[in-house]
Amino acid sequence: MALLATLATFIFLPIVLATTTSLRQTNRQKDPIAKAFFQVKEILRTHPHPDVRGEFYRMVLRGDFRVSPQEQMGADAGFVPVAAEVIRLYGHKPRAAFTPVIHVDTIILRPEYKARAQLVLYHEYVHYEQWRDGRLVDDPSLGDPNESDFAHLDSCKKKWYAEAEAYHKTCLFGRQSGLVDQLGSDETLATICGAEGSAFHATLRHTLLYDGASAGNCADIWSTI
Ligand SMILES: [Zn+2]
Repeated sequence: MALLATLATFIFLPIVLATTTSLRQTNRQKDPIAKAFFQVKEILRTHPHPDVRGEFYRMVLRGDFRVSPQEQMGADAGFVPVAAEVIRLYGHKPRAAFTPVIHVDTIILRPEYKARAQLVLYHEYVHYEQWRDGRLVDDPSLGDPNESDFAHLDSCKKKWYAEAEAYHKTCLFGRQSGLVDQLGSDETLATICGAEGSAFHATLRHTLLYDGASAGNCADIWSTI
């Protein structure tokens, strides 16, 4: 787990650090990433879910949770724990063995995607809770060459159930808060949250197979779940 998490941090950390640097050195009005960071903070502060505007927002303010906006990242958002030794390599002082980081594509910060951004940030917060509780595996797409077939099967299954839970919670909250009704009919979350029972799982499978980085490694296993 530590090795894979460390590899993941090498992929993502330069972006985190670029954001930090840009915040320090430039005016946020001129820097789209710095501006995006403040937009995300504002969405968290005013979020309709109490845990997001509460614990999540407070952790970001304290620096215990990092938010890293990116342009054209190929997914709306992603959660990754960043190892302390990697944080230290770049001259930052880690507060724990791993720092939770959420990457956000700046496209969802457009005003017309407000409901989508609120739901996506809640979805990633659920992944943080899964990780905090020891229930989130490293992304199987990283492909540990020493991983046995059984471990591979296990990590693909765990990823499936983690996503199923995160989407289930996102859709439940989205329906209760009315956010799902505010989504455009062509948005993926509208399709997933509009499906129930076996249709929900079929839609989720389709989404993970076509949108997820681990699809290539887990496709066979997910098609049997
Ligand atoms: Zn997810």
